[in-house]
Amino acid sequence: MDLTYNRKNIYALADEAERKRIADYCEGYKTFLDNGKTERETVAETVKLVESVGYKPYTLGDKINKGDKLYYNNRGKGLFILRAGTADIAKCGVRILVAHVDSPRLDLKQVPLFEKADMAFLKTHYYGGIKKYHWLTIPLALHGVVALKDGSVVNVSIGEKDSDPVFYITDLLPHLSQEINTKTIAEGFQAENLNLLVGGIPASGEDKDAVKLGVLALLNREYGITEEDFLSAELEAVPAVKARDVGVDRAFVASYGHDDRVCAYPEITATLQTETEQTVLTILADKEEIGSEGNTGMQCILIRDILDEIAKSYGVNAAVMRANSSCLSADVTAGYDPAYASSFEDKNVGFVGKGVTMNKFTGARGKSGSNDASAEFIARLRAVLEKDNVIWQTGELGRVDLGGGGTVAKFIANNNIDTVDMGVPVLSMHAPYELVSKADVYSAHKAFAAFIK
Ligand code: MN
Ligand code: MN
Repeated sequence: MDLTYNRKNIYALADEAERKRIADYCEGYKTFLDNGKTERETVAETVKLVESVGYKPYTLGDKINKGDKLYYNNRGKGLFILRAGTADIAKCGVRILVAHVDSPRLDLKQVPLFEKADMAFLKTHYYGGIKKYHWLTIPLALHGVVALKDGSVVNVSIGEKDSDPVFYITDLLPHLSQEINTKTIAEGFQAENLNLLVGGIPASGEDKDAVKLGVLALLNREYGITEEDFLSAELEAVPAVKARDVGVDRAFVASYGHDDRVCAYPEITATLQTETEQTVLTILADKEEIGSEGNTGMQCILIRDILDEIAKSYGVNAAVMRANSSCLSADVTAGYDPAYASSFEDKNVGFVGKGVTMNKFTGARGKSGSNDASAEFIARLRAVLEKDNVIWQTGELGRVDLGGGGTVAKFIANNNIDTVDMGVPVLSMHAPYELVSKADVYSAHKAFAAFIK
């Protein structure tokens, strides 16, 4: 009997065949990353995927039958994928997997366009927690929608194709940075300077705001929009980079938006590929990065409505069904970074390559704001994961009192559902280009599959 707890390195224990499964699995993941850079695109991409294997759209109020494969598209930004099982739902409850598909980015303001020094810029308001200096001098793409008064919606994606232009935020040259270098980072990098350069050719025959007018003329020709149409637009600037392997051994993947598509993808593959009699509800959530607010965030009552529809359709008591349900809140955690070792407590942190990481609690300053899963629920999960030989680990976000963070876990648990956080450890989380170990991504798939069995 081993009396001590030790993490295991997945690659070290994997034979050639397992290493190939890990690498092959992540080829699919990289495609998923590149095809969906925003919550809307990820939802659209996932709808295509589930429809291709027979899932049908669900309308609230419709009866759900055992064996149904359904999806509910919440305003194009959130998705509920439902596998209606044959097991006794009052006794077994619903197995819930939830990951979010919004990521930190720069959103355009509603009146974004201005001209200065013969250059046209778009003003932004950042979304989620970012280090502002990360977003300077990197290629940016613009994704999103412009909703028009006639009810139509114009889809925008500029900057992803090799032939596309990109957008750009300037930075001051080091030769003139003596003053800025003495400031704090918070003082030195101002949100109102995060303006995207979008044009530099003046419209002919104009003398005031000629560059701005030139840009508007091009946008009108391409998309049929005017400056006023930005009022009802959601346009998001994201890094114009693709997911790439990192390292000569290709152990890692770097990408924009691992948080939290690195959990969304395993959630989807586990849901679609696992044989189970259980009822499984797999959720892609929006607005996690700004507190899960609004009607596409996980604080919305919609999850309760969908659970009620399931209980009603099965003819069981909804309160009993919820009490017996369980949830993995699949969100990333901070991976141990040796360059910033003192920011972590190295007995209680997720290490890259050592598996999907369970966070019993998140929060800040004495677990405040945390779900803090019960010991009994974690014990049950330990048994489930061990039975399927899943290599996983435990962790917490970082050193106590250094900072903290939250997830959607507490909003699910509020429905009287046992919930715990489990996700892939990420290095450089919330940077424009984040890093994960491929072994951990595949470990997440295995863990989520074991959970819904
Ligand atoms: Mn997250
Ligand atoms: Mn995040």
